[in-house]
Amino acid sequence: MKSLVIQASHALAAAGQGDLVWGHASVRDPEGRGIWIKAPGWGLEEVRDDRVQLVSFDADVLDGEGSPHKECHIHLEIMRARPDVQCVVHTHAQAAVAFAALDVPLLPISHEGALFGGDDVPRFRLTGALVSDPSLGGALAGVLGTAPAALMPKHGLVAAGRSVQEAVMHAVLLDRACRTQLMAMSAGPIAVYSDTDEALAKRQQCWPESQLRAGADYLSRIAIQDYSPFIQD
Ligand SMILES: [Zn+2]
Repeated sequence: MKSLVIQASHALAAAGQGDLVWGHASVRDPEGRGIWIKAPGWGLEEVRDDRVQLVSFDADVLDGEGSPHKECHIHLEIMRARPDVQCVVHTHAQAAVAFAALDVPLLPISHEGALFGGDDVPRFRLTGALVSDPSLGGALAGVLGTAPAALMPKHGLVAAGRSVQEAVMHAVLLDRACRTQLMAMSAGPIAVYSDTDEALAKRQQCWPESQLRAGADYLSRIAIQDYSPFIQD
């Protein structure tokens, strides 16, 4: 499980989603004890075996050093609400934060934008502060529902998946969709985007499990080149 947390964290770092030592990825414990998640104080690219904790559904650290991230409740409550989810990602991806501040619909103007099949991305509006208790985590899980990812205005994004690759790519695709729309909107009004039928077709065509895996595996290969110094003593 530690290796999967490392894989997810490094792939997110390779995609540019790091925010100094903030943001984290978690993997469900196969024995039902909780989640495996990065310990506080480390950047995504710095994660290695001894910087991963096992955190119970009551937010107690069962394996590893120190306290858990204050926002471990994001992961715990999404895992609790979604038994199919194996990996949860929370980052402060900059394009996602900038885009959410505009409070306009996310349009399918690119392949990435079709991730939601023509629907707008869900947004967690209850607070822009830390999701630091089970109640807020549960509310966020409710907003996410069965969507691939959600925006957290004034804060970041959250993504989930049935595998590390899915969750990582859901986060990466949302951030890229936001960045692409920001670019378009900065140049003028958006005139062309997929209708619902085309967006749904593109979601099936562009983002089946095999493509998500291919994208995530690419990020992992890049990460191995870039971050191997951090995972060696
Ligand atoms: Zn956060």
